[in-house]
Order: sequence, then structure tokens, then C-alpha cells
Amino acid sequence: MTEPAVGPRIDMEILVSLSKRRGFVFQSSEIYGGLGGFWDYGPLGVELRNNVKRAWWKAAVQERDDIVGLDASILMNPRVWVASGHVDTFADPMVDCRECKKRFRADDLEGHVAASAHGHAAEGGVARCPECGGELTEPRMFNLMFKTFVGPVEEQASTVYLRPETAQGMFVNFDNVLTSTRRKLPFGIAQIGKAFRNEITPGNFIFRDREFEQMEIEYFVKPGTDEEWHQHWVEARRNWYLGLGIRQENLRVRRLEKEELAHYAKDTYEVEYLFPMGWSELEGIANRTDFDLRRHAEFSGRQLTYYDEESGEHIVPYVIEPSAGVDRCFLAVLFDGYREETVRGEKRVLLRLHPSLAPVKAAVLPLSRHESLVPPARKVWDLLRPHWMTQYDDSQSIGRRYRRQDEVGTPYCVTVDFDTLEDQAVTIRERDSMDQVRVPIAGLVEALRERLAGV
Ligand code: ATP
Repeated sequence: MTEPAVGPRIDMEILVSLSKRRGFVFQSSEIYGGLGGFWDYGPLGVELRNNVKRAWWKAAVQERDDIVGLDASILMNPRVWVASGHVDTFADPMVDCRECKKRFRADDLEGHVAASAHGHAAEGGVARCPECGGELTEPRMFNLMFKTFVGPVEEQASTVYLRPETAQGMFVNFDNVLTSTRRKLPFGIAQIGKAFRNEITPGNFIFRDREFEQMEIEYFVKPGTDEEWHQHWVEARRNWYLGLGIRQENLRVRRLEKEELAHYAKDTYEVEYLFPMGWSELEGIANRTDFDLRRHAEFSGRQLTYYDEESGEHIVPYVIEPSAGVDRCFLAVLFDGYREETVRGEKRVLLRLHPSLAPVKAAVLPLSRHESLVPPARKVWDLLRPHWMTQYDDSQSIGRRYRRQDEVGTPYCVTVDFDTLEDQAVTIRERDSMDQVRVPIAGLVEALRERLAGV
């Protein structure tokens, strides 16, 4: 085995093609020409996605004693979005090229002050079109929320919005959660769910989508302890990515500049990954202060406070919000795991996925389709299916099948050969080292369980 021929800085195209070929990600409604910013997750993609979400939920809810889960609806009373500030300020500056008619986010173009936080108009001189050099229109603010209607009449009064973030579902349920769980500060609410943004320029594969999924925590703390908790969460969230095997050199934490902050934030850090297009946000960790609870109290007329027994006062908690994207994490995991190696003069592509994320944990492969091997191999497969996501494959040569499993990140292959008929044992082959060990079928589940370490 030689050193990887290609390091982490591989082309996006390589992953786009692997994703399609092997059933991770397809373009949405592809047979009709697709729809920009929308993607479908295929048979392996849905497994990897679910595993990302499961790993997050385990760290955010299951393993903690201070966070509870929630699953709020996507459509909400439209006043939620007035109170949150989204109706007024969730907008990006948009420019059009007068020549080629292409559309851009003004704050993405050179000659404008970078302002990635939504709600900041671009400033500075007008840039030229990056595609054709043509003249650009003045920036116009464009609200990113998708609108639809509730009920049979399409009129202003029945307009609702597809949520652009899951966060507000947690703020408006603050009191419900507090009273039903009798939590003490600090405590958090966690949620995973779809969010929608009519992005001006979706792109970079699944990095910037118009429909995506978020994994968010709203962590409520006593005012005055917010900065300390903010640091706690930055560290905890960074470690979560490292724990999934993301390489340290491809991960960084960046504190946003004052002018990059969203309207509600006192301070924000981003966890960023070194994608081919450069360092880009995987997750934002914001100190949202008491902005949201105060606004919802004001707009709903309901009290959203916490009774602090120590001081005998009703207080409005501050909020620390780690907000991550499932799709961006998925993409980072693929990039970070992708390797090309040369093994005995042949190229081997492999995805070094953490076992907890691998879509398939073990593949059962009879040495050949020989009639004496297929029935025992299928029996071995029957044995594993109740425990993990597994696959059975008996087409083409065993070498080709190992490569196919390497390419989708399967950590273990279990091979049934002619000796199995005599010794009732099989071979376990490990993905990264390609080491092989022989184990009795009777101890196979245990042997894999040990190797998969709690997965
Ligand atoms: P960006 O600056 O890239 O537009 P943002 O700062 O607006 O992102 P947040 O509002 O902080 O993003 O959203 C929290 C997380 O949700 C992001 O870190 C990202 O992982 C995910 N996310 C946001 N917008 C998108 C999108 N259009 N496509 C995929 N994921 C997204």
C-alpha cells in the first residue's frame, strides 16, 4: 500500500460523480431537468444522513442530562416570522448582470464588503459581472423565505412561510417545554428538521441548498453566564466533528467580525471545513442573547420568563445556539473520508468513514456464485441483518466486490469460502488496513460488535 495519491483537496466533481454512481445523492427530479438547489438522497445517502443525525442526537440529547428534544411543525403562525425579524431582515442583496442576465449575491462579489450574515446590505462600489465582465444592477434586497398559502384561498391573509430555520419552533415552545419538563437553568432544547431558503445562488453541490436540514440546540442560560457557556459550546461542537474522525487540519473555528453578525447576535463563532472552494461554514454558534424570547413575548402577549428561585425574580434567559447543517456535515464527511491509493499497481478508492457513519457496516460476500457457497453465505447474511445495515453481493470477482465496498465506506467484509463448508468459519476483512482474520460463524456477531465498538 502506498501513500494516498490524492489528499483531502479533491475536486467537487469527483464526489458528485461518486455520489450519483453509488447512490448517495441524486439531483432532484432529474428526469425533468432537475430543480436548482434541491437534491434527493439515494439508498446509501439516506443511511449516511440518518447516521449523521443519530450521532448528533446522541451527543446533543441522549448523552446529556440538560437537553430535551422537540419536533416542531414546518409551517407556523406567520407572526412568528414578524417577531423573529425574518419578515423584515432575512434578505440578501441581489444583483443582476445587464449583459448576460446572470444573478448573483452582491456580498459574494469582489468590490463589496463581505457580509455573510443575512440581513446586511452590501456596501461599497459596484463590482463587474464575474461571468462576462458586464455591468451589474444596483443591489436589491431579496427575502429568502418561501411563501405558500394555508387553506383554499390564495390571498395575503392566508400567507405562511416555510421555516428558514428550526430555531423559532424551539423559542415559541419555551414555556411548554419548561412547564412540562420542570427544567432548571441552564437547559436546552434540541431539534432536527427541514429548513427552506430561497437562496439566490445555490451551489457547490449540497453545500448551499434551497431545502436542507438543520440540527439546532437552543441552550438557555442565566444572563451573565452566557459568555462562559458560549465557550463551552464552541469547544463541545468542535470536538463532536473531531470525534467523527474529521481531520484536525481540515477544521477550524472562526470568530465572526462585528459587521458579519446577524441582527440578533452578540457574538458568533463558526466551525468551518476546508472544502475545495475554501474554508466554509459547517455550523454557526451564536449568542442570541434574550432577543428571541423578548420579541415573542412582546408579539404574542405571553410571558416567556423563568422563575429564578435564588433571586426570587422572573428572568428572561439568554440563549446560546449551536446550529449545524446535516447536508454540510454529510459533504464534509465525504470529503474527509475520500482516499485514492495504489494497491498492487491498481487504484483503490476508499471512503474512510467513521463506523458510526458508514451506511453499510458489513457486507457478506461468497467467494464465488458456486452453488455450494451461496446458501451458507445467505445464512450468514440472515444472521447479521437484525443487528446492522448490511449488504449481500455475489456478482463479479471478489476483488471487485471488495473495491465496491471500500468505495462506499463499508468497514467490514465477511467472506464465505470453500473452507467455510468444512470449518464453519468466515474471514473478516477490514477496510482501511485490508487485514483479514478468520472467525467462527458462531462468534461472528460478537466479533463484529467488538470491532464496531458500540455502533
Ligand atoms: P451562509 O452564511 O453560508 O449563508 P448562514 O450563516 O446563513 O449560512 P445559519 O443561518 O447560521 O447559516 O444556519 C445554520 C446552519 O444551517 C449553517 O451553518 C449551515 O450548516 C446550515 N445552512 C444554512 N443555510 C444553508 C443552505 N442554504 N444549504 C445548506 N445548509 C445550510
